[in-house]
Amino acid sequence: MSIKILLDKCTGCSLCVKACPFAAITMIDRPADAPGKGKKIAQIDLDVCTLCGACVPSCKFNAIDLKKDLGGGDIDLSHYKDVWVFAEQREGKVQSVAYELLSEGRQLAADCGSLLCAVLLGDASIEEEVDQLFKYGAQKVYLVTHPELKDYRTAPYTRALAEVVTKHKPEIILLGATTLGRDLAARLAIRVGAGLTADCTGLAIDPVKKHLLQTRPAFGGNIMATIQTIRHRPQMATVRTKVFKKSQIQNPKSQEGNVIRFTPVIDQNDLVVKLLDIIKDESVKVNLQDAEIIVSGGRGLGEAKNFKLIEELAAVLGGAVGASRATVDAGWISAHHQVGQTGKTVCPKLYIACGIAGKIQHLAGMQSSDTIVAINKDPDAPIFKVAHYGIVGDLFEYVPLLTKKIKELRG
Ligand code: FAD
Ligand code: SF4
Ligand code: SF4
Repeated sequence: MSIKILLDKCTGCSLCVKACPFAAITMIDRPADAPGKGKKIAQIDLDVCTLCGACVPSCKFNAIDLKKDLGGGDIDLSHYKDVWVFAEQREGKVQSVAYELLSEGRQLAADCGSLLCAVLLGDASIEEEVDQLFKYGAQKVYLVTHPELKDYRTAPYTRALAEVVTKHKPEIILLGATTLGRDLAARLAIRVGAGLTADCTGLAIDPVKKHLLQTRPAFGGNIMATIQTIRHRPQMATVRTKVFKKSQIQNPKSQEGNVIRFTPVIDQNDLVVKLLDIIKDESVKVNLQDAEIIVSGGRGLGEAKNFKLIEELAAVLGGAVGASRATVDAGWISAHHQVGQTGKTVCPKLYIACGIAGKIQHLAGMQSSDTIVAINKDPDAPIFKVAHYGIVGDLFEYVPLLTKKIKELRG
């Protein structure tokens, strides 16, 4: 895409300056050889311009020329088929996010009329995980093995995955928005010339054009944007852990399936990073994402010491302690507990929100929980819109009461 101001049409009215959300347009003196002597003219700073197109309709004189020509021209999309899930593995075990994506991918593949495939990278021993991928619904597994792929490193993984993607041309690739997935997806997208939408919270297929509809929060979570990659393939999306639910095993007895083996060529230049050891951060004791019950506290707690009430309720329920960002920002609790758009995405069986307003950024991290209970003294608090059960009242009264009653019930 490209953009320019047409010197012969620009009247210098400056309407486009206000229309640009990125402050990329300024008014400058008109070049001596341009028509309309004496008037100012718009200039676009191409280092700042995002090519969003918002300025084009603001110009009543058709003086902004935004070309959607993609340079190399359109590519033929008809060779691209199938939905691929990147089966992220750590220490030889496929991670839960891959099974969640397979569960979601099944519907996408059905809607596209294509196959659901998994792509698994590792050393030879990773083959043990293939069967499980079939059980969770993969109809084909691309097994990419090489001794240098045992543990994740950006360069060899990018090279290997790009090679197999270029050869087999998937239409859609889904990756977990994990530290690893985010790193790999961005590199891969550039390497294969794909469109990438990060941190999607919803995926669907356009029933007419069959493009992947990738929904994600935008503008600080204030709107949900649905993004389509119309002219490039593959369509790539990353999705955070627990955004989609892992389904039940699809093919419990299936040992068979279609395995496509692939041995990539790894260039010595890709091996500049040597993995000496993997050291786990033992200080992170909160495992919110795997917790079946989470009790979360918000600013309604008033001060840090009142998190004790949340901890007590979580303890009697055998659950974990979550928190809103407001409490993390206030220094009442560590960021490991934060639930939401910039914290963890969780999907427990039970989520109890105490003194949390339920702003969109918090909801983004917990609204797919099976059962949501909210305690808030404001009956109009947005948390009640997603809560299955609500207590309109003072948390200082109800949280200790709940703790006491549950203790009694449990003897
Ligand atoms: P408040 O909005 O202050 O709400 C406190 C609630 O407690 C109120 O509803 C009040 O009625 C209730 N209350 C007060 N006293 C009592 C009482 N005694 N008993 C019962 N109820 C009581 N937020 C997140 O949580 N997670 C995120 O990941 C996140 N990411 C963000 C990312 C961006 C880019 C931005 C801009 C914001 C983000 N936020 C996030 C912040 C979010 O917008 C809210 O500011 C935050 O969630 C508010 O936290 P809160 O509900 O605890 O506090
Ligand atoms: Fe006005 Fe259009 Fe010129 Fe901008 S580009 S100053 S809107 S005439
Ligand atoms: Fe600004 Fe978007 Fe126009 Fe670029 S295309 S100048 S970013 S409004």
